[in-house]
Amino acid sequence: MTTHAPHSTHAAPSVLLPASLDEAVEALAATPAAVPVAGGTDLMTSVNSGQLRPAALVGLGRISEIRGWQYQDGHALLGAGLTHARIGRPDFAALIPALAAAARAAGPPTIRNAGTLGGNIAAGAPTGDSLPVLAALEATLIIAGPGGSLREVPVSHLLAGMDNLRAGELIGFVRVPLLHAPQVFLKATGRTGPGRSTGSVAVVLDPARRGVRCAVGAIAPMPLRPLEAEAWVASHIDWDAGRALAPEALTAFGDYVAAACIPDGTAPDGTPEQLSPAVLHLRRTVAALARRALGRALA
Ligand SMILES: Cc1cc2nc3c(=O)[nH]c(=O)nc-3n(C[C@H](O)[C@H](O)[C@H](O)COP(=O)(O)OP(=O)(O)OC[C@H]3O[C@@H](n4cnc5c(N)ncnc54)[C@H](O)[C@@H]3O)c2cc1C
Repeated sequence: MTTHAPHSTHAAPSVLLPASLDEAVEALAATPAAVPVAGGTDLMTSVNSGQLRPAALVGLGRISEIRGWQYQDGHALLGAGLTHARIGRPDFAALIPALAAAARAAGPPTIRNAGTLGGNIAAGAPTGDSLPVLAALEATLIIAGPGGSLREVPVSHLLAGMDNLRAGELIGFVRVPLLHAPQVFLKATGRTGPGRSTGSVAVVLDPARRGVRCAVGAIAPMPLRPLEAEAWVASHIDWDAGRALAPEALTAFGDYVAAACIPDGTAPDGTPEQLSPAVLHLRRTVAALARRALGRALA
């Protein structure tokens, strides 16, 4: 492991550069005040603004085992250190198209070249573009902990705060089922050019189970799954006739998803309450994204 000590007594953190996941976990155990850093795109923003003053950093950038992917029992095991730029490339897009689309939308090129999948998940920002895709795919995380321990946690449990990363743990891999069917990720930013999501939708077809899975990002602290809308639309698709769906059912799906994720307001006395124009606009945006995403997946 390489160590870079600070040059002076100023508050510059020492930086440890482990070469394997095991070494990284050991370094965290040996230096409990140390913070892991992958691409640094989120973390260094907090350091530069003075919000975070880590005593030491454990850099994950030299751990080659988490920078690629491999196949495992009908799944892809994705290294947490895969960058958005790598995930956005055509060979990966052929494998998990919606994750590639989200990676291509995750900020400007400099950010995509450095920012990683694991950092996106661990940061857990509502605007994290990979998150609704991983929720719709029902991906799981392989988490490495002290003493060489490994545990598997659904991404949705981590994002919902039901099962948080514990002290000294690192996300090593993300296990994603390979569905061999169309999947779409669409994002609204409220502006032209790259920007953080104001609303996003991932739609994934699962023809083997005759299922449609959908997750909506950026409108709540974690991605939302409109389960009833998924089941309703899956029952209206003619899976044996080229996955046909009537256009009015497509529109109804968009409205169903939007109403499930952004329900009508209710006053404390139980009477219906008018949604604000901004919330109504967001609901229309989500409806349009869901309708278009499913339309493209079925086209
Ligand atoms: C200008 C700008 C624009 C951006 N635009 C977007 C956007 O459009 N969409 C989007 O989704 N994101 C965007 N981001 C956010 C950021 O780029 C992504 O969240 C990125 O994926 C973070 O990855 P990273 O490797 O840089 O994480 P880091 O900054 O290195 O780490 C982030 C957090 O995760 C922890 N961490 C990192 N790796 C691991 C691991 N393997 N195990 C456990 N903990 C870990 C770190 O300790 C830290 O707390 C933007 C950021 C900037 C600065």
